[in-house]
Amino acid sequence: GSPVVIVGAGQGGVQVAASLREGGFTGPVTVVDTESGLPYQRPPLSKAFLTGDGSRSLIDLRSESFFDENSISLHTGQRVDGIDRSAGKVALEGGEYLDYAHLVLATGAGPRTLPVPGADQEGVAVLRTLTDATLLRTLLPGQELRVVIVGGGFIGLEVAAVAAKLGHRVTIVETLPRLMARAVSPELATYVADMHRSHGTEILLGNRVVALPGKNGRVEAVELDDGSRIDADLVLVGIGAVPNTDLAVQADLEVGDGIVVDDGLRTSDPAVSAIGDCASFPSHHAGRRTRLESVQNAVDQARHVAHRLLTGSVEPYRSVPWFWTTQFELRVQMVGLPQEEDERVIHGDPSTGRFSVLRFHNGRLNSIESVNRPQDHVGGRKLLATELRPTLDELRQTDFKFDPKRFA
Ligand code: FAD
Repeated sequence: GSPVVIVGAGQGGVQVAASLREGGFTGPVTVVDTESGLPYQRPPLSKAFLTGDGSRSLIDLRSESFFDENSISLHTGQRVDGIDRSAGKVALEGGEYLDYAHLVLATGAGPRTLPVPGADQEGVAVLRTLTDATLLRTLLPGQELRVVIVGGGFIGLEVAAVAAKLGHRVTIVETLPRLMARAVSPELATYVADMHRSHGTEILLGNRVVALPGKNGRVEAVELDDGSRIDADLVLVGIGAVPNTDLAVQADLEVGDGIVVDDGLRTSDPAVSAIGDCASFPSHHAGRRTRLESVQNAVDQARHVAHRLLTGSVEPYRSVPWFWTTQFELRVQMVGLPQEEDERVIHGDPSTGRFSVLRFHNGRLNSIESVNRPQDHVGGRKLLATELRPTLDELRQTDFKFDPKRFA
């Protein structure tokens, strides 16, 4: 059969290989990843993995035997250095070549670095890989530390929650006027901020970090644009991720904020697909080109590409985006893609710790955020998969149940 080569053995890359085999693909399947060891899941790295016993089984994407049993050839600890599209080959670091009939780029994203003096010192951490998480695991359990989290996004907040639970003194610094500003409503951001404050964490909003002063190569403080200084033993930088597009750029594929793909997830070369954190795709749900960083997005896009390779069908990718975060005892679930300026309806009552925020753009429901109301999330996923949209007025009713049948 025709060989499929997949660059990246993360959530998306491994799923392409698994789905190809599940669908009966008999050609050679090879997955290459720079990181060594068995492929793993990233979400636990900022949650349970930091406090658990650190065992790999908590995070394995698939068992070791899975790859052998499914004849998936796994090259870990090896970087793909280049793509020769006219010859249908990728070059591995070290000089080896792999032939492909189809190539899948699932290269993920890397942590954005803080462009200030002192950011490269000891005690300044990021969190993307198992190596990063293992380092944090060794630092967090000991004596009380002054931990400063730069960036009030999901990863920063999840680590802040773990650190506060372990008894550290935690400060979160966020440049924007609220937490998780691009992803969640003001109501949810306020609720989450209050939860962190109730655990003793200080939150500084609207402040920019200008320097990380230190001594002998070790960070000692975080300096803000208003001149204030926060002493720090550990600084975690969680200010977003940058898509890994180097390979695509070198190979002369179209690249914007991510590797540009069409609605079938093909790059500007139809023999090359791109999925997951590295891919910029025309989103049916956003109504524009977008790039998402979530397990759902990587897994569903992987399945979509595998289906196309198995059947030749070129349906557009339309899966409903969803996401979750866990902070303290709080489980937040989100479905759909919100817009900045939208109207909102709240179901339930934030003071009871159970509520959902329904968001509308031009009167059309686009997303739902749920705190401890899993039935709203599950119903929302079903509803947003259809073209049915209850109106704002319908959704203002109390005790609304998201039953897609109601709108049929
Ligand atoms: P990745 O999983 O990043 O895999 C890409 C792989 O490609 C990497 O292993 C990399 O080494 C490899 N690679 C890159 N370039 C090359 C090359 N040239 N040669 C060989 N290999 C290469 N999402 C959620 O939905 N919920 C959560 O709660 C959540 N929590 C998260 C917590 C953390 C700490 C992090 C970092 C992410 C979290 N995410 C969460 C996001 C989610 O993990 C990602 O969206 C998902 O892993 C994306 O999968 P991917 O396959 O696109 O990329």
